[in-house]
Amino acid sequence: MKFAKNKTNRQFATDLDKNDRLKNLRHRFYIPENKIYFDGNSLGLLSKDAEQSLNRVLDEWKNQAIGGWLNAQRPWFYFAEQIGEMAAKIVGAKPEELILTGTTTVNIHALISTFYQPKGKKTKILADELNFPSDIYALQGQLKIKGFDPNKHLVLVPSDDGNLLDEQKIVEMMTDEVAVVFLPSVLYRSGQLLDMEYLTNEAHKRDIVIGFDCSHSAGAVPHHFSDWGVDFALFCSYKYLNGGPGCAAFLYINKKHFDKEPQLPGWFGYKKEKQFDLLIDFDHEKSAGGWQISSPGILGTSPIEGALNITLEAGIENIRKKSVHLTSYLICLIEDLLENDHYQFKIMTPRNPEQRSGHVAISHASETYRINEALKARGVVPDFRPPDIIRLAPIALYNTFDEVWQVVHHLKEIVDQQEYLNFSTDKRAIT
Ligand SMILES: *Cc1c(COP(=O)(O)O)cnc(C)c1O
Repeated sequence: MKFAKNKTNRQFATDLDKNDRLKNLRHRFYIPENKIYFDGNSLGLLSKDAEQSLNRVLDEWKNQAIGGWLNAQRPWFYFAEQIGEMAAKIVGAKPEELILTGTTTVNIHALISTFYQPKGKKTKILADELNFPSDIYALQGQLKIKGFDPNKHLVLVPSDDGNLLDEQKIVEMMTDEVAVVFLPSVLYRSGQLLDMEYLTNEAHKRDIVIGFDCSHSAGAVPHHFSDWGVDFALFCSYKYLNGGPGCAAFLYINKKHFDKEPQLPGWFGYKKEKQFDLLIDFDHEKSAGGWQISSPGILGTSPIEGALNITLEAGIENIRKKSVHLTSYLICLIEDLLENDHYQFKIMTPRNPEQRSGHVAISHASETYRINEALKARGVVPDFRPPDIIRLAPIALYNTFDEVWQVVHHLKEIVDQQEYLNFSTDKRAIT
């Protein structure tokens, strides 16, 4: 993306904000006072809409008690299916292919237990060494449950630079010993976005099922799960979807697999209209809903309804357009001002917008951790990921171009004034 010559003037940023078609949505969110919040890729902000749907459900519990399961404004008995249907538009799923259930890691267990069915020579799960550790733990656990040694049967695609993955290499490693491929849509450190359509095609050519953890792309990047033929997927609701901390997650199953058996069955996956017959022979609903385990945590899922309304109102294509514009502007300013011998910053995220999601990762030659601390002291909320990455996420729904300008100038001043020297190198628990 090209920006005009005068892009380093603050006026240039304020002009971009004036022309921003999504600018009116910022006021629907609670922006922490005196902060520049650039961490919506880790925990999205509370919106007034989400607060309202949460309060409504609290009132329903207060006034209707058990009656809420069938008589609430959005009956709790159908809540998970209906919210799944809303989110289906955002990820290109058929309504019955998506359900709000479980949590990110629990859904990995629920899906891998179904899709990993080792047979003959096909005993391996192919993943990558840069995925979020929880995903890898879940894969290791699933292998052990099926009696396979993770050291031999979990194959991890290596990264040459510890930062990015080479899609050709992933495809080369799809051998005839691989039963399932499980990858993140976006690498959580560098922000690299993988080409899910291409990888799905290549896996299917080799008769391998493939699934994705889309926690770092859902709500930021449009997906077309059904058209691409992705076999299964899951994603959390609390990052770009602004559902609330640890809120329930989403589980996607392509409808061609509805007859497969849920291996972690529970009564909420039972055929919906017969669930209350309470029979002991399990017979699952032939939809993603069949993979539910327990009663949906209605309080913990209720904010997602309001949050999704904003995303749907904005439109995922418009969100992506603005997000690319914001990250391109951020990259452009860093290239111009900070990526040089004096400031010693380096951009770790792919510069081609088609290969990145909603955050930009940067690294400093020697002081990344303390520069992150200094940024926080100046009221910026980024996050730090070891060994030496600062992630900056300007969110399309509530951040501005002017905030991008400010963050880059904070970074510049922190180095100009060697402000990082005031901070300790001891690491805290949550960064
Ligand atoms: C955010 C995220 C998680 C978090 O897992 P929880 O079970 O929700 O705590 C796991 N994996 C990936 C790839 C993520 O981005």
